[in-house]
Amino acid sequence: MPRLIRFALIATFALALPLTTLAGDGPSKAVFVYGGWDGHAPKRFRDLVVPWLESEGFEVTVSDSLDIYADASVMAEVDLVVHLWTQGEITKEQFEPLRNAVQERGVGLAGWHGGLGDSFHRNQEFEYMVGGQWVRHPGNDGVRFTVNIIDHDDPITAGLDDFEVETEQYYMHVDPNNHVLATTSFVTDFEPWVKGTTMPISWTRMHGNGRVFYTALGHQPEVFDVPEAFTMLKRGILWASRSKYEDTPDLVSPVYPVE
Ligand SMILES: [Zn+2]
Repeated sequence: MPRLIRFALIATFALALPLTTLAGDGPSKAVFVYGGWDGHAPKRFRDLVVPWLESEGFEVTVSDSLDIYADASVMAEVDLVVHLWTQGEITKEQFEPLRNAVQERGVGLAGWHGGLGDSFHRNQEFEYMVGGQWVRHPGNDGVRFTVNIIDHDDPITAGLDDFEVETEQYYMHVDPNNHVLATTSFVTDFEPWVKGTTMPISWTRMHGNGRVFYTALGHQPEVFDVPEAFTMLKRGILWASRSKYEDTPDLVSPVYPVE
């Protein structure tokens, strides 16, 4: 099949897959927090994701300050936190209400790329919650690589085929308890000692009672012009938003052999 036609078919199929709409007793309040290193285009991502969240029925509180996490009236009501803040620092007064919301009350946490996976290196508890931490992107931006869907049954990746992107390929230190949805392989010689490595690129996990969704895609908003990438992101965010409302199975499953 000609590549263009095949791509069009995949794109049509991916877009036709339903996203869960909000109905009845379900999540309705989201906080979208953006800032940190400007090279990750936080404002352009805000303009991409916030209107989509609103179209899904969320009432979104948008904040360019981490102080929103210390606002008890907001955090008492929220179902979902979308966190986009590369690098930087978070104070105890900002972090603890966020952690408690996720860990104790089952608020969902979702994010992408450095906005969730490269935040607050000095706060190990934040990294623990996310399940991974950015280390490197061999070759920097513009690396062409394949995203391999490895869980075809999970609702976030069901029906999606492997797809190619051209962006930063994140090398991360990851938690072995992540439920990995998609991986990528390092096939270039940019940093040859990692050639052949298979690295998780999207995962889910639980942190206490809260669902966490992360994808390492998202250096710039344009990567989500790839329909499969945006579908995975949107489904992941919606999945995270429902942790107060649905049961979640134990996602811990050891990846290393046990004697
Ligand atoms: Zn980046």
